[in-house]
Amino acid sequence: MPKITLEQAISASSRAPHDGYDYLIVGAGFAGSVIAERLAAGLGKQVLLIDRREHIGGNAYDHLDDAGVMVHRYGPHIFHTNAQRIVDYLSQFTEWRPYEHRVLARVDEHLVPIPINLTTLNTLYGLSMTSEEAEVFLAERAEPVSTIRTSEDVVINQIGRELYEKFFRGYTRKQWGLDPSDLDKSVTSRIPTRTNEDDRYFTDTFQMMPREGYTHMFERMLDHPNIDILLDTDFKAVRESIAHRHLIYCGPIDEYYDFRFGRLPYRSLRFQHETVQQAEYQPVAVVNFPDQSVPYTRITEYKHLTGQTHPLTSISYEFPCDDGDPYYPVPRPENAELYKRYKALADETANVTFLGRLGTYKYYNMDQVVGQALALYQRIEDGHAVAPEAAGATAS
Ligand code: FAD
Ligand code: UDP
Repeated sequence: MPKITLEQAISASSRAPHDGYDYLIVGAGFAGSVIAERLAAGLGKQVLLIDRREHIGGNAYDHLDDAGVMVHRYGPHIFHTNAQRIVDYLSQFTEWRPYEHRVLARVDEHLVPIPINLTTLNTLYGLSMTSEEAEVFLAERAEPVSTIRTSEDVVINQIGRELYEKFFRGYTRKQWGLDPSDLDKSVTSRIPTRTNEDDRYFTDTFQMMPREGYTHMFERMLDHPNIDILLDTDFKAVRESIAHRHLIYCGPIDEYYDFRFGRLPYRSLRFQHETVQQAEYQPVAVVNFPDQSVPYTRITEYKHLTGQTHPLTSISYEFPCDDGDPYYPVPRPENAELYKRYKALADETANVTFLGRLGTYKYYNMDQVVGQALALYQRIEDGHAVAPEAAGATAS
């Protein structure tokens, strides 16, 4: 994985054996790194992978902080999937640490499991219901909604307004800057309601963390002589100067087109990282704060995720905001419409393929992005997509 400078990349792209990179890939997160690895190792292509950040790994980047505690710079990333082939693919580059994610929410001075389960209901209401009784309890509170369209509809329909207000309304308003009634139903549908005692956040078949961290996994993935890596470099700085036959763009699609149809909304986050002078800060990796009077949405303590032993511990607070790095595409019908216009333009742009959470404006988890990149590779390998044509041209 040679890390190179801009000058080296320009020079390498203008002479043999490259005579222009086969692929310029923008964004060294899951999308860009997986497709880079496949094209280099699977098809022997010459690849230049760039990122405007000073590191690989995209939002999954992790590192040791000043105290020597492993943290995720961009908030907690837990790997979970039902797809064996995605586990098999990633397992070439990492070993795994079994980890089942559990989250508590601070509600009415209690710390209770979220997703809402039997323990949550019994604790909040001072009851000792059985699962069957809890089902009746929720059915009595649920307010049936005939057509479920929004993130408010989903929850009210399942558990009624009171629990919706305690757990979902404030959190969602903070997280998205929108009322749940203005967000697509897919957002809160990510969180189930349970009447048993299962307190796991995810129920996927595979739930685990890369044993030595995500960054280490990315380093191994990109360790190939055909992959050059150029960090701290925005696409704009190289778009004219580095010859390439095809571009795979994993940044925001609207930015690629200079926002010609207007901006696609993205929600951002500000992370406040702190090291605490004690071995443990909270009982689980993540504690959520749905109350709207608390300015942050959640606190993460990373040692629970990584299993690291250390006399100190590091945590982060998440403050959602509009400005800053684009983290979340905002699922709403009008945004989907705007994305469609960019997608139509993309379909007509020769030699450019958009990929990943920002490139395709999809609220994807990591495994879905890996799946999307592997599917693109399959199309390229089968000759159905984006095979580089004549050498030498700068394609974008
Ligand atoms: P990214 O990781 O965003 O990578 C895109 C890269 O492109 C970035 O590094 C960026 O710097 C670079 N880039 C953009 N534009 C340019 C440009 N013009 N020039 C150069 N470089 C550019 N998923 C899970 O499965 N489990 C989780 O627990 C989980 N937790 C999450 C928590 C948070 C706070 C967030 C924000 C996301 C979480 N996700 C989680 C989602 C996960 O982060 C994404 O699915 C995944 O990282 C997307 O990979 P990507 O390569 O598409 O995008
Ligand atoms: N959510 C909520 N309260 C919670 C947890 C989640 O209202 O305690 C809602 C919120 O709208 C959030 C969505 O459910 O954005 C999906 O939650 P998830 O944890 O999947 O979000 P992500 O991991 O993508 O930040």
